[in-house]
Amino acid sequence: MPRLNKAKRAARSRAAALRGRAARKPAPSTPRRRPLPGPASTPRRPPPGALRVQSCLGCIKSALAGRSSGECHDSATGGSRCWRCSSGHSCLPL
Ligand SMILES: [Zn+2]
Repeated sequence: MPRLNKAKRAARSRAAALRGRAARKPAPSTPRRRPLPGPASTPRRPPPGALRVQSCLGCIKSALAGRSSGECHDSATGGSRCWRCSSGHSCLPL
């Protein structure tokens, strides 16, 4: 079917032209708005509660690894786990 072939070829060349135009065209002058980096982009987490007198094992380990100051805070959501451990790992007393 010659007609179909022609149409197919036309469509392909049109697509190629579109692609070429898109490739040559630089990014649009109006950049898309991105969310500003800041507190909004950080994972949702309640602020830490009161500082605990005795740090838990997890917090001590974290401090030893250099990832924190070793301070152990009460979790804002309550419970036995401290703020740092409330995100997952178990909060073990020393
Ligand atoms: Zn802790």
